[in-house]
Amino acid sequence: MKTLRLYNSDGRELQEFKPLESGHAGLYCCGPTVYNYAHIGNLRAYTHWDILRRTLERFGYEVKHVMNITDVGHLTDDGDEGEDKMLKGARERDMSVWEIAEFFTKAFFKDIERLNILTPTVSCKATGHIDDMIALVKRLEERGFTYESGGNIYFDSTKLPDYGRMALLDRQNLQHGARVALDTNKHSPFDFVLWFTKSKFENQAMMWDSPWGRGYPGWHIECSAMSSKYLGERIDIHTGGIDHIPVHHTNEIAQSEGAFGHHWVNYWVHNEFLIMKEGKISKSKGSFLTLQKLIDDGYEALDYRYFLLGGHYRSQLIFSEESLDGARSARKSLLGRVASFYREIKGSPLPDISDLGKASFSRIEAFDAALGEDLNTPRALAELWQLVKDETIPAAERLAAVLDMDGVLGLNLEEAGEETAGTGEDDELSALLTRRREAREAKNWAAADEIRDELAERGWKVVDTPEGPRLEKA
Ligand code: AMP
Ligand code: ZN
Repeated sequence: MKTLRLYNSDGRELQEFKPLESGHAGLYCCGPTVYNYAHIGNLRAYTHWDILRRTLERFGYEVKHVMNITDVGHLTDDGDEGEDKMLKGARERDMSVWEIAEFFTKAFFKDIERLNILTPTVSCKATGHIDDMIALVKRLEERGFTYESGGNIYFDSTKLPDYGRMALLDRQNLQHGARVALDTNKHSPFDFVLWFTKSKFENQAMMWDSPWGRGYPGWHIECSAMSSKYLGERIDIHTGGIDHIPVHHTNEIAQSEGAFGHHWVNYWVHNEFLIMKEGKISKSKGSFLTLQKLIDDGYEALDYRYFLLGGHYRSQLIFSEESLDGARSARKSLLGRVASFYREIKGSPLPDISDLGKASFSRIEAFDAALGEDLNTPRALAELWQLVKDETIPAAERLAAVLDMDGVLGLNLEEAGEETAGTGEDDELSALLTRRREAREAKNWAAADEIRDELAERGWKVVDTPEGPRLEKA
């Protein structure tokens, strides 16, 4: 088994991944809150976790990947303050909270599919697991970690000696955790709601009966309840954005370790943020970039994936049109290279990876080493390019190796290569026509126009006829 070292936020160091069960890896990823479209920052998180999953699989682990869908309980402020995100989304769009949840869950899955992110083994909705959350709160109650105040059930953070361990929260220094309780029912500012019965929101539509009265769960409890249901009470890896360290994940750890009575997650992996040139992206403030907007602007979803792979997941990444343009042309040129390999091998079968020569094999080893060193995708991409450009290696070998690497990078090189491959210009032209047709079907006019321009550059004019588009010499 190849070595994978991950930066563990709990302990703040690089550690070699050692699974709980040999050959298996349990992976829990905090999923989307479905009150709006995912923005391109959120999609950065899911793309890197996809790289993590694919790397684990490449290194020989059978991965059980669980992701929650937050469709209840998440307030606009992670620390129990602010407005209910689902209610806000529903009001703004004049839909019910249930309709909002369904609509944006579908939109989310469409986005991740377009980015070639593998579907989780289990995707679980918070509203489908209320009983599990109630059972966990009961367990915490039995173990003395809760109190009732103002009608709500709170977690008592003072009962857990190492509360805030991962975030290095210093309970004496509130500024460190930037938490000041506005909710006067809390005994300590670090306490948090497990179950709301006194809703601040009179028109709260999502409510369930519970031993503490009719109400709804706090946000953090869902991840503890669902992850333990599907992965057991000890978990290999848990992921999330860096913003989740001080509150959401700190509280998940508190609840889970409080209820189970032992250490819970072995590796906490957090991605840094994607930021815009102008600063932070904010979903709740309304205007933000979506994947669909990039597609409407003429990019392909995989241009964005390529752009993301160019940054290490633990570094901030600044989004700009110029850098996305750079990624698009790099990907295009990669596809061109792959197509040329396909043309060169003229349909002959590819060699087995184990039969590759020393030069390509050592590139694959370097590629794996880059992934194994805390998922270094920029270095892995650089290794791929070194291989692609190495004229001393036969095309068939380069193609076999590049497709092997693409198993992790997920850039669909095989498909794109086959599409543009062939022995002559005819195949390329018909591939361009197919892509133009697909772009038009997806109402992606900008992409369709771009392909038309490319054809024009090659001296061809597209004429749309009732039988379909035809090419004429311009
Ligand atoms: P949400 O749907 O708001 O719960 O966020 C989904 C995931 O995206 C969480 O793991 C967040 O930490 C992460 N996230 C939010 N904003 C960004 C960003 N700008 N860049 C990268 N990840 C983000
Ligand atoms: Zn979570």
